[in-house]
Amino acid sequence: MALNRDPHVLVVGGSDSSGGAGIARDIETISSIGLRTCLAVTAVTVQTHQAVTAIHHLQPGLVADQMRAALRTNEVSAIKIGMLPAGRVILAVAAVLSENPRIPAVLDPVLASSSGRPLVEPNAIDVMKRDLMPLCRLVTPNLVELAVLTGSELAVSDEDVLRLGRRLLAAGPQALLIKGGHAAGARSTDILLSPNREPVRFDMPRLAGSMRGTGCMLASAIAAHLAKAKSLEDSVRAAKQRVFEKLMEASA
Ligand code: PLP
Repeated sequence: MALNRDPHVLVVGGSDSSGGAGIARDIETISSIGLRTCLAVTAVTVQTHQAVTAIHHLQPGLVADQMRAALRTNEVSAIKIGMLPAGRVILAVAAVLSENPRIPAVLDPVLASSSGRPLVEPNAIDVMKRDLMPLCRLVTPNLVELAVLTGSELAVSDEDVLRLGRRLLAAGPQALLIKGGHAAGARSTDILLSPNREPVRFDMPRLAGSMRGTGCMLASAIAAHLAKAKSLEDSVRAAKQRVFEKLMEASA
């Protein structure tokens, strides 16, 4: 069979049996934006909305093989990366990205579930920074992930967020979207930071409801809009709007 020329987003991440997060959310999000997905599963998790009870890692070679097969089969226009459970898996993903430098990759640096269970081995965090981030078009940490990734206290002021963001940018991603959704206040502000550019702020009213998998949805939606050849800023704006609408539905 010839290459499937429909634009696809390659999703690299873990499954979540509850359907609240992970690849189920990614596929749902990307298809709602009108694109197809292909898949490289990195981990199988057993979860309810309250707890993660088991995590099974897939072998790094199997993850890389899935990615290469997906790339051979389809026209992949963007790559969305979520849960990467171990350093060797991160290195395998980085190797495939470096073979495909023209495809933009969006990394959601998932470190833990909202129920508090770590989803990445602690020693993998340095590997993620050193070997994977420099290959990414965008990395989307929330404030807790920003603190862990920079070995710092949680940023409270806008100044601290920008200082830690600039520090993480030095690890080499082309841009960062720092998600302020878990901070306090009536508005929820995300900040897009790129080297040598003024920060761009995306501000939304804070909604009462909460929902799992919003990080997965946001990064997937950004990847889908990048795959449609939108600019990074326009992709983030469109993706934020979509997540906002989903949160509105959930809190209605
Ligand atoms: N499980 C998997 C497989 C994920 O990829 C993620 C986030 O990306 C989570 C759990 C965490 O999601 P939540 O914060 O909604 O618990």
